[in-house]
Amino acid sequence: MTAFASVDAALKSTSPRTQAFIDGRFQDALTGQTMASISPIDGTHLAHVASCDERDVDLAVRAARQAFDKGLWRNASPSEKQRTMFRFAELIEANAEELALLETIDLGKPISNTRSADLPLTVQTVRYYAEAINKINDEIGPSPSDALSMIVREPLGVVGAVTPWNFPLLMAAWKFAPALATGNSIIMKPAEQTSLSLLRVAELAAEAGFPEGVFNVLPGDGPGAGKPLALHMDVDAVAFTGSTQVGKLIMGYAAQSNLKRVGLECGGKSPQIIMDDCDDLDAAASAAAWGVFYDQGQVCTAGTRLLVHRAIKDQFLDKVATIARELEPGDPLDPDTEFGSLVDQGQMQTVLGYVEKGKAQGADLIVGGAQARTASGGFYVEPTLFDNVTNDMTIAQEEIFGPVISAIAFDDLDEALTIANDSIYGLAAGIWTSNVNNAHIAGRRLRAGNVWINCWDGSDITTPFGGFKQSGFGRDRSLHALDKYTELKTIWLKLKGG
Ligand code: NAP
Ligand code: MG
Repeated sequence: MTAFASVDAALKSTSPRTQAFIDGRFQDALTGQTMASISPIDGTHLAHVASCDERDVDLAVRAARQAFDKGLWRNASPSEKQRTMFRFAELIEANAEELALLETIDLGKPISNTRSADLPLTVQTVRYYAEAINKINDEIGPSPSDALSMIVREPLGVVGAVTPWNFPLLMAAWKFAPALATGNSIIMKPAEQTSLSLLRVAELAAEAGFPEGVFNVLPGDGPGAGKPLALHMDVDAVAFTGSTQVGKLIMGYAAQSNLKRVGLECGGKSPQIIMDDCDDLDAAASAAAWGVFYDQGQVCTAGTRLLVHRAIKDQFLDKVATIARELEPGDPLDPDTEFGSLVDQGQMQTVLGYVEKGKAQGADLIVGGAQARTASGGFYVEPTLFDNVTNDMTIAQEEIFGPVISAIAFDDLDEALTIANDSIYGLAAGIWTSNVNNAHIAGRRLRAGNVWINCWDGSDITTPFGGFKQSGFGRDRSLHALDKYTELKTIWLKLKGG
């Protein structure tokens, strides 16, 4: 694979699109406003990207509604829909190297991750929902002999999707693939830091053959473009991934406008429990470290609360600390780099602010905690490990969204589970144990949408993903995600002579 000497050289090998994609065409924001896309790798200015507002939202909603009403996509035969979506998956796959590069330069995620995870998983997501199109049947109810009841699923109409910057394409694909597979039109608002890959994908959607108005992308900031989308009277649903704070706003917008359907995938503060009966502490230590340091901790399921049995705590944290010390932030464009930059300066300052809060509240900083690669002009923070954290400290309660592990000691399983569940979040949780009874007890008692036993981040497109509590509701991935984009209808037909 090609290695790039600079962000500029990488950028030159791509063909970024920077305008909004509405009704099958790239166009400037109606105001002509743009926003800067900056690479956090070294501060390079990448592009001026259209900054949409409510007028562009209105235009896109009208195009999406018209496309839906005309039915060119909605009423296409299942096999035709499937062909288009498979073509789309193939085009994304054929352009995966360029898309991986765009994501890496836009957000500082190591190129090894965008190549090995973000792009293949995006392609897999589109293929999975393409496959589903002609595999799912509606239902006929157990009707009396003089009637026929049909229970059918119908597309909602116009779906809005508001997504974060940490997995720009994958989080969008978790929305657009099931929404399109069920016949909806979609309007996507990517995070302002990372619009480039999705805008390039819009071009591929047109090439794949989605009718005009079915697939729209509106770059812009949250209040400017996301809010009017969620407030729009003619949008039928908003699928959101992002922080709990903004998720609450989205619910409010739905309530203030047309009671549109809302699906929320929000934040997390996931506990990873290490029992003293764990028979592979090396594997557990690697999972504890990588469960937070992957993508520099900017992962909603990051296992940031590390709960360790007191009897093994010092021995275990030594292993985690060794991994953290050896993991040096590097150039995200270097294929050997495993740990890159944070998404922007603001995120770096937020993470460093949490490190200061941790120290001030009495936690012991044992590794990292400082900015790194300062000469690069980019935004890097060292892998960081705190010991002697208590669950009431800010660094144990708030989502940091950076490479910071907070280690908390416990004395028995009951205490561990109580601490684990003492959070407003419930996205993921895990336990390392060789005791099958403890594994099952934890599996049942942990209040989270994903529970991992003797692994971390086990996942697949076939399994649902989402949260309990303030981590949101509704599920992405698997066939369950189709519920988010369809309405259930009963058709009752009276029969004569039955
Ligand atoms: P964020 O600040 O909540 O933003 C998410 C999206 O909402 C962005 O597109 C943002 O636009 C938009 N937005 C902001 N204010 C808005 C408003 N008033 N109205 C409508 N839209 C608005 O989250 P982030 O910083 O991008 O991402 C990190 C968060 O996402 C973390 O909390 C993480 O846990 C969560 N996340 C969850 C999952 C999951 O599946 N559960 C997956 C990934 C990330 P701008 O940023 O452009 O302003
Ligand atoms: Mg950027």
